[in-house]
Amino acid sequence: MSVTLSGYKKPNTEGSFVHYKSQYDNFIGGEWVAPADGEYFDNPSPVDGKVFTRVPRSKKKDIDLAVQKAHEAKEKWGNTPVAKRSKILLKMAERIEQNRQMLALSETWDNGKPIRESMAADIPLAADHFRYFAGVIRGEESGVSEIDPNTVSMHIKEPIGVVGQIIPWNFPLLMAVWKMAPALAAGNCVVLKPAEQTPVTVLLFAELVQDLLPPGTLNIVNGFGPEAGQALATHPDIGKIAFTGETTTGRLIMQFASENIKPVTLELGGKSPNVFTESVMAKDDSFLEKAVEGFTMFALNQGEVCTCPSRALIQESIYDEFMERALKRVEKIRMGDPLDPQTMIGAQASRDQYAKIMSYLDIGKQEKAKVLAGGEAYHNEQYPDGFYIQPTVFEGNNKMRIFQEEIFGPVVSVTRFKDEKELLEIANDTLYGLGAGLWTRDVHQAYSIARKIEAGRVWVNCYHQYPAHAAFGGYKQSGIGRETHKMMLDHYQQTKNLLISYDQTPTGLF
Ligand code: NAD
Repeated sequence: MSVTLSGYKKPNTEGSFVHYKSQYDNFIGGEWVAPADGEYFDNPSPVDGKVFTRVPRSKKKDIDLAVQKAHEAKEKWGNTPVAKRSKILLKMAERIEQNRQMLALSETWDNGKPIRESMAADIPLAADHFRYFAGVIRGEESGVSEIDPNTVSMHIKEPIGVVGQIIPWNFPLLMAVWKMAPALAAGNCVVLKPAEQTPVTVLLFAELVQDLLPPGTLNIVNGFGPEAGQALATHPDIGKIAFTGETTTGRLIMQFASENIKPVTLELGGKSPNVFTESVMAKDDSFLEKAVEGFTMFALNQGEVCTCPSRALIQESIYDEFMERALKRVEKIRMGDPLDPQTMIGAQASRDQYAKIMSYLDIGKQEKAKVLAGGEAYHNEQYPDGFYIQPTVFEGNNKMRIFQEEIFGPVVSVTRFKDEKELLEIANDTLYGLGAGLWTRDVHQAYSIARKIEAGRVWVNCYHQYPAHAAFGGYKQSGIGRETHKMMLDHYQQTKNLLISYDQTPTGLF
């Protein structure tokens, strides 16, 4: 999708699309509610490092209220006919599309991602997700079978009721919608906690759709993980907890949920291999160009993507030639003002994340990995206090920390492999199993290697595509369950079996 924007300005200045409130409340029971103990915290923009809004620092009491309001709404929403629920979801998609520029600008300002990306990906994908689940929920059918001529078994899918959802900061609206859309489609009421670093777009979204849903169906409660997040994950009255975030936090969420025997779905970290086989260099054509571009995908969203192709594995026989092209391409990645549609890589989402990535640049250098590109912070003259880092390419080996640990920044660690055996050894030598990329002109290799890579999503000859109707999720320590695709509905429904006898004869057992 092409981006044809110009003239975005800093929010709250003349000509801006978005006029942020200086302070937000929680969205609970269809109303804007102040936090119980009146505490708010500052939300800075990573673009310029300055505070632009404040949001509630919610605690257990606020979560309790949201869960209570969701319970009050669950009968109404759960019993809303599927066709009507579906229609409401379609309207939510429409509202997103109608406000695309405002939401995109908000994502960019709150998260730091370039406007070309929020306009072309985050916002349209969020709208499409509502459309997809509005459609698939209408195709859900109960199963009826005959156990014997006098007994019928009926399987009915029922909503879980009230679900808790906790999301990260890298795709603030899209991650929220990935969770909300299937949950609402399946007839559940939602209590969602946005990441404390990026609360704003989800709140703007709630403002846009608040008249569409019965009060209490969707509740947004802001706050920090150990306060609001933990109160939600340990709440005895939620029927399920869905989490996206770090693997270490995911482990905690599982423990919290186990206290009340609640089901959990987890979308966690990754250290995805991006594999370039020798057939890629066989011709100098547009496929080769696409593959070289595939290498640069580590910089998408400043590398703050769970599936960031953060390890590149290049076949030895093409290494020098391929890397020469790849590095030229990396040089052309345009940095600068995230609000400028020409900018390709924006600001890291927070000061903490910036510091974490910078520390990994040091670790890579200490490990004696060779810096092939970048390796430093980027000084953005326009926004000297924003959090900017150069796209960085390290060369090293898979035992190094920069190959094993999730950096979550615009950093790729490159190594070589000789043959298929070594390729698979390196690709699978990781705790994670979320995404992987494989580039080849050989259809047999495409299938056989992709099947042997231990990851929930293997992109072959493409990368970073997220259609709503393809299942997404992790193998190994990258998670439990799937997001997107209609199989997601199974995580938000429970099965009731009705076993009905038409036989009037006593069994004779007693
Ligand atoms: P994080 O785990 O620090 O935080 C995620 C969310 O959990 C936030 O809302 C946070 O407030 C909350 N949280 C933190 N501690 C908590 C606690 N003790 N109890 C309850 N909630 C708590 O992760 P992050 O830094 O925001 O996000 C980056 C991570 O997310 C990366 O590891 C990335 O790979 C992962 N991620 C995964 C996917 C996926 O689909 N697999 C998608 C996006 C991001």
